[in-house]
Amino acid sequence: MNLTDEQKADIAALRATPAQTLRATSEGMERHLYEPKPVLDHGFVRVIDYMGDDTAITQAARVSYGRGTKSVSNDEGLIRYLMRHWHSTPFEMCELKLHVKLPVFVARQWIRHRTANVNEYSARYSILDREFYIPAQDSLAAQSTTNNQGRGDTLQGAEAERVLNYLRDDAMRAYDHYEEMISTEGQQGLARELARMNLPANIYTQWYWKVDLHNLLHFLRLRADSHAQYEIRVYADAICEMVKDWVPFAYRAFEDYRMGGENLSAAALDCIKRMLAGEDVTQETSGMSKGEWREFQAMLD
Ligand SMILES: Cc1cc2nc3c(=O)[nH]c(=O)nc-3n(C[C@H](O)[C@H](O)[C@H](O)COP(=O)(O)OP(=O)(O)OC[C@H]3O[C@@H](n4cnc5c(N)ncnc54)[C@H](O)[C@@H]3O)c2cc1C
Repeated sequence: MNLTDEQKADIAALRATPAQTLRATSEGMERHLYEPKPVLDHGFVRVIDYMGDDTAITQAARVSYGRGTKSVSNDEGLIRYLMRHWHSTPFEMCELKLHVKLPVFVARQWIRHRTANVNEYSARYSILDREFYIPAQDSLAAQSTTNNQGRGDTLQGAEAERVLNYLRDDAMRAYDHYEEMISTEGQQGLARELARMNLPANIYTQWYWKVDLHNLLHFLRLRADSHAQYEIRVYADAICEMVKDWVPFAYRAFEDYRMGGENLSAAALDCIKRMLAGEDVTQETSGMSKGEWREFQAMLD
């Protein structure tokens, strides 16, 4: 991750001048504010701003329930109740604004999450930096033979070297041509908005991404999951660390009910009841398809 001296000075200045406020703050999140967390070879994610804390969630919930959901009087208990029963709007009372630097092919997956506000670096207006994501050797995986959307073993030896050389050389050649095309030395110079089109998808872009906690947790549920592509998962993992410090009660409930928990179909629930009663349930007697049964078995392992 390369930050310019100017960026480093900006961050240091922001962190050196705390402002007094009457607004709710989260001690855990204050520690993250502005500081970039490195991700991949040149990427980062950093908190630019946030609103609310665990209390903002329970405050909002108590408006709808009146003062006393008597059975869940403490904040953590109420948050767990809300998460367990899919009460989403209290979680929308918290907001997070991130600055993210990420490869374009990761941005394409990320942008599918429509419930956020985004402002991206303009490659029409500005010149993109010569920064490309080149996987580390241990992330250079072969195509999975069992999952069309997944990875298999790591490439080794001459094949790994050849692939890395292609990735580096193609990126550098494309960037050289990009620079040549936009140059105005002895020529008119192609518009930046056109010249960028020959750049590969592993070039880095940057954006501000603002989202409420409910939709952020939905994003993390999908992208910090083992089925997500490694290159977006590492960003999601970095954000999880921030959310854990920001809203510890909500994050613990999220880990418990969403990341660590499972949704069961009626057939799966019935199978579990029969198994607990001592029946030897098989796929044939389960009422589930082969695929469902496979996933059910994996869940129980
Ligand atoms: C492992 C994995 C593999 C994937 N593979 C593919 C793929 O092969 N091809 C592909 O195209 N995509 C793929 N995706 C993207 C996926 O289909 C979703 O587009 C992406 O995860 C965003 O999810 P979302 O729509 O729930 O999120 P968001 O856009 O943040 O929406 C959150 C929720 O808001 C609601 N919502 C938002 N907008 C609308 C709307 N316009 N109408 C109704 N409800 C709305 C929905 O309930 C939605 O779940 C993949 C995602 C993952 C995690």
